[in-house]
Amino acid sequence: MTFADLGLSPEILKAIADQGYTEPTPIQAQAIPVVLEGRDIMAGAQTGTGKTAAFTLPLLQRLLPFANASTSPAMHPVRALILTPTRELAMQVEESVKTYGKYLPLRTTAVYGGVNITPQTEALRRGVEVLVATPGRLLDHLQQKSVNLSQVSFLVLDEADRMLDMGFIPDIRRILALMPPRRQNLLFSATFAPEIKKLADTLLTAPVTIEVARRNSAAETVTQSVYLVEEKKKRDVLTNLIRTHNMRQVLVFTRTKLSAERLFRQLERDGIASAAIHGDKSQIQRTQALNDFKEGKIVALVATDVAARGLDIDELPHVINYELPPVPEDYVHRIGRTGRAGATGDALSLVSPEENKFLAEIERILKRTLPRETPPETGASFRSKRHPVAHSAHAEEVNAEPSALFDTQLLPEQKAPPPATARKPPQLAALLGGIPWKRD
Ligand code: AMP
Repeated sequence: MTFADLGLSPEILKAIADQGYTEPTPIQAQAIPVVLEGRDIMAGAQTGTGKTAAFTLPLLQRLLPFANASTSPAMHPVRALILTPTRELAMQVEESVKTYGKYLPLRTTAVYGGVNITPQTEALRRGVEVLVATPGRLLDHLQQKSVNLSQVSFLVLDEADRMLDMGFIPDIRRILALMPPRRQNLLFSATFAPEIKKLADTLLTAPVTIEVARRNSAAETVTQSVYLVEEKKKRDVLTNLIRTHNMRQVLVFTRTKLSAERLFRQLERDGIASAAIHGDKSQIQRTQALNDFKEGKIVALVATDVAARGLDIDELPHVINYELPPVPEDYVHRIGRTGRAGATGDALSLVSPEENKFLAEIERILKRTLPRETPPETGASFRSKRHPVAHSAHAEEVNAEPSALFDTQLLPEQKAPPPATARKPPQLAALLGGIPWKRD
């Protein structure tokens, strides 16, 4: 299916093409036709699924008959109201409306708390068709009469479950009372707690329910923890963790194939039987490594995200993120390798100060702070110890080199990972498997 199949206008299609999107995501494919028909929807979709465009694109299409270039504020009443729980989300949604509506004479603005209200008031007085707002600040504007909702015919409640968590439901009910009762309502929520269902019952008329697969639900059986470690100490901490936790089978993730290869060699030098799988390995090498891992011939399998995709390993007890992924959803995929089918597992992440921004993103989508643990003591001495479990032939070979055994210096090839800015953020298609962006 293409966006053109959905019956969107050429201006909207051009804006979508400018973004490089080639096909609608599942939530878009399901929601857009229903919204265009004028039906209410109750959609279960999380951030990362493309939900913003799923409501913004058909909304813009529905507003097309009202688009005009007049300078008169009276010609630009608020026709669509999008309520979001946080100012960050309000800003993101406003940005999306501007992006997808860039070829249309429709106005949009966002109002949210924590900033000076005056510029918002001025923007509202000039007139906007699409208003994105957090509930508290919108009520302030309603009170000072800088906005009027009497012509709203489309309402979107985005991330309704977070609104509930943040105690916004009474504010939302107050806002609902100020709008005409005949309007189209779109409710998006990641979860459907009884209170959300109750709100939906009062708000929606014969809604179409749309649900797309949860992409961010980390397996509840997985214990997650974070070790804050300087980049140069990571290798020692990793080796020590594998030893102190007596790990027999651990999948270790790196960001790049170069660091996967380097880390695998270092682990072997530390006496931990390992293999690496990444984009430069042949299928035969990958299969061999995977078999050795499954059979317990190697302890650590070092992998990049792309190479690990689709790995089928039952009841993997440990996952270690040696480097955090810049894309938070990849973290969820990684830790989903353990704790499968009711089994318990643990996922440990070594996080350097440079990676704090990735950690913040991960915690944002998990909606929780991960516990910080103290790294086990590291030092030169442990490297001389051999790991008591199976060693590959290669491990024995490498460990036979005395110079490698007591090396406490940074190895010359150890460098900090590339800065986040050097990496292009993926399009959703990449996250969903289309992979136009080469990360491996
Ligand atoms: P959202 O779930 O709305 O936060 O969107 C997540 C990301 O997916 C955003 O960065 C969008 O730009 C991107 N995106 C939305 N729709 C598509 C699509 N059809 N193809 C590729 N990327 C998309």
